[in-house]
Amino acid sequence: MALVDELTKIVGQKGVLTTAQEMAAFLEDWRGRYRGEAVCVVLPASTDQVSAIVKLCAQTGTAMLAQGGNTSLCGGATPGATGAPPIVIGLQRMRAIRSIDPANNTICVDAGCVLAAVQQAAIENDRLYAVSLGAEGSCQVGGTIATNAGGTGVLRYGNTRDNVLGLEVVLPDGSIWDGLHALRKNNTGYDLKHLFIGSEGTLGIITGAVLKLHPLPSARAVAWLGVASPQMALDALGLFRASCDTRLSAFELLNGNQVSMVVEHVSGRRAPIENADWHVLVELSDTCDASALDDAMQSVLERALERGLVTDAVVGANESQRAAMWEFRHSVSEANKKGGAGLTTDCAVPVSAVPAFIASATEAVRAIIPDLPVLIVAHMGDGNVHLIPFFRFAQWKAVGDQNALAERIRRAVNDAAAALGGTFSAEHGIGHTLTAEMSRYKPAVEIALMQAVKHAVDPKNLFNPGRLLPSAPPFGSRRAS
Ligand SMILES: Cc1cc2nc3c(=O)[nH]c(=O)nc-3n(C[C@H](O)[C@H](O)[C@H](O)COP(=O)(O)OP(=O)(O)OC[C@H]3O[C@@H](n4cnc5c(N)ncnc54)[C@H](O)[C@@H]3O)c2cc1C
Repeated sequence: MALVDELTKIVGQKGVLTTAQEMAAFLEDWRGRYRGEAVCVVLPASTDQVSAIVKLCAQTGTAMLAQGGNTSLCGGATPGATGAPPIVIGLQRMRAIRSIDPANNTICVDAGCVLAAVQQAAIENDRLYAVSLGAEGSCQVGGTIATNAGGTGVLRYGNTRDNVLGLEVVLPDGSIWDGLHALRKNNTGYDLKHLFIGSEGTLGIITGAVLKLHPLPSARAVAWLGVASPQMALDALGLFRASCDTRLSAFELLNGNQVSMVVEHVSGRRAPIENADWHVLVELSDTCDASALDDAMQSVLERALERGLVTDAVVGANESQRAAMWEFRHSVSEANKKGGAGLTTDCAVPVSAVPAFIASATEAVRAIIPDLPVLIVAHMGDGNVHLIPFFRFAQWKAVGDQNALAERIRRAVNDAAAALGGTFSAEHGIGHTLTAEMSRYKPAVEIALMQAVKHAVDPKNLFNPGRLLPSAPPFGSRRAS
């Protein structure tokens, strides 16, 4: 109680949540698969308050868990069910757009800003903040930086790491690192921001960021394609790339099972093309006039149809049709959550190896459970495939040891990626679902380096214990899905 009283002095009464009801939403993950305990939830309203909270916890040896929008898909943001409960530090009261510099193409924001709000602020200044993902209405900029989030714009604009110029971070002793540089060139030693990007809250709490902006496209052309196979999709991607170069801003692959899942479980969604085995959503965007972009789309599609790469194509005729195609694509996580228990994987392989990966990973899953449906949704232009072995609820409930089966199946998929030079975590991060995979796939020397960094920055292991690093002490157990 003394700790809670001291925290209340820092953030005020409304900034500390202690009852089960108040804390519930912070203690369970988005998919309802992990639930844990916390001493309390603290909601600071400024960087100085974050610093004071961390100093207090450092003095008392209290573990801390930073939480953004709590949309992590790998158990990264919710406390564990066992071990010493941490305090959860949520940044949703830190939502200021601090400044925009259109001439420098940068925006400086509080880390608690919701991603969609930053995108909107950029649009109001005739600019684009290019990181975009299905959770953008809930996830926070701090969370996207901590996980180095990817999403649908990576093909053209890179992942979050490529869109961050500067950071403000509270370190485990409570000191504040002001690295809010808005520079595109700065060769003055180690580029420390990269240490925190993708560190999943294990090294510091990100409180502010300077983000890169891009010219706001004035035109976009969006088409939905039916294709016969992942290889045909790869060949179509090559054609789009060769013809459109940087105007190609998204190339997303879905299989028929995934499309059916969205139609079945998300009301109002209609598949732009029915009965195709494989689907592609392709987007071109540019600052040229719309008719030039439409002509470019039309011309590539004609060639793709002539060569037999594409079996069917629907071009969004207006903004509402284009938006509907994107809504369909962004509905996959919601559909899968409602439809059953999907064992989401997040592999990346070289783009050229995507068809081989889909074939070998599917075969590996079917060697464990013949005929198990597999959903596939892939950021194909980045080689990032979410291959999701999928159980209906009743089928999953009947499984004896769910954790063991989930681990076996995920491992089969991850092994297939590793065999092709790929990774088991392309964009979602490690959280505590994948810490064992770190030991399996990362060279020992790489893990030792990461542990050395963690020890140097957070010697008491107070930030997000049990996350990211394989040898961190266990911090909670996985609940059955
Ligand atoms: C519907 C849906 C679609 C998604 N689509 C994608 C996608 O396309 N691409 C993709 O990459 N991810 C995707 N995700 C996963 C998730 O949205 C991202 O990982 C996102 O970046 C997490 O942001 P968040 O604010 O919710 O962070 P949280 O889930 O709250 O936290 C994630 C991790 O970051 C840490 N963290 C959070 N805030 C801070 C901070 N300020 N300082 C330090 N550490 C912090 C947490 O401790 C935790 O380890 C999706 C999730 C959902 C639910």
